[in-house]
Amino acid sequence: MIRKTCVALALAALLPAAHAEFPDRPITLIVPFPAGGPTDIVGRLAAAKAGEILGQQVVVENRTGASGTIGMAATARAKPDGYTVGLATVSTHGTAPHLFPKLAYDPVKDFTPISNLVTSPNILSVNPQYPARTLAEFVSHVRANPGKDGYANAGAGGVNDLGMIWFLQITGGKMNSISYRGSAPALTDTVGGVVPVIFDNFPSSLPYIKSNHLRALAITGTARNPRLPDVPTFAEQGYKDYDVTAWYGVVGPAGMPADVRDKLAQAFAKAVRDPATAAKMEETGAFPLGNSPAEFGEQIRAERDRWKSVIERAQIKLQ
Ligand code: GLU
Repeated sequence: MIRKTCVALALAALLPAAHAEFPDRPITLIVPFPAGGPTDIVGRLAAAKAGEILGQQVVVENRTGASGTIGMAATARAKPDGYTVGLATVSTHGTAPHLFPKLAYDPVKDFTPISNLVTSPNILSVNPQYPARTLAEFVSHVRANPGKDGYANAGAGGVNDLGMIWFLQITGGKMNSISYRGSAPALTDTVGGVVPVIFDNFPSSLPYIKSNHLRALAITGTARNPRLPDVPTFAEQGYKDYDVTAWYGVVGPAGMPADVRDKLAQAFAKAVRDPATAAKMEETGAFPLGNSPAEFGEQIRAERDRWKSVIERAQIKLQ
């Protein structure tokens, strides 16, 4: 017995003390968009469960602005010890890097991918006062009124801004981009009638559509969403090549120790697959994923390249 203890102590002394017991204090998850938006909704759900699994709280800190790039720059600059990670999105790692000439980070080189937690479709909705009742009516109304209306979005150069710019290019329409710090304030103004149209990630728009404060016209993706089975996809309304998916994944700064990265990845993946947490995610219309660091790294590169070619092909520039 005594001998065993001595051996255990001797082994413990050989282990690198710095992260032998990771985590031994709370972890900060930087959410780069405001409270009440989709990144915040999924981030808080995952953080609560991952904290339980890790035995340490995962504290959400909203650091907003510039389409999520401010919070992501802070994540990239943090100490790579696993105690500060961030929730990357398609905007921060897919679209913005091609449109922000002074971006303070490289979406691949400056981060350690941990786990992509959730994917979500996007949805085009209008204030109920807006004349269009269907996507076809929307397209003809916008064509007949070039430059008259605005669309609200969660940040210039982010996925909701670009998704709309791309759709307008396909359909020959012209609208004004009205950018906010995130979906939550963009929705407030659309529901309030300040801006008539919004292209948003699904989870944040869903409650307003259900309560008839917004009228949904089309959803992205190959299938309708079970939360709103009456809303047709863009594809089934004739826009087969038009697809815009949102995602939210945990990343750390570059250079994180592999064991710390893997411990976080396993905890977050387990969190989003936990039946109760997954059910809550699915209620928002999002799809839990929880993949590995290698898979997420591959996705980040693929998304960066995909959006580069969309932007170049459509010659998209920020307004
Ligand atoms: N649309 C943003 C994105 O997918 C998220 C907006 C928000 O969370 O407020 O990157």
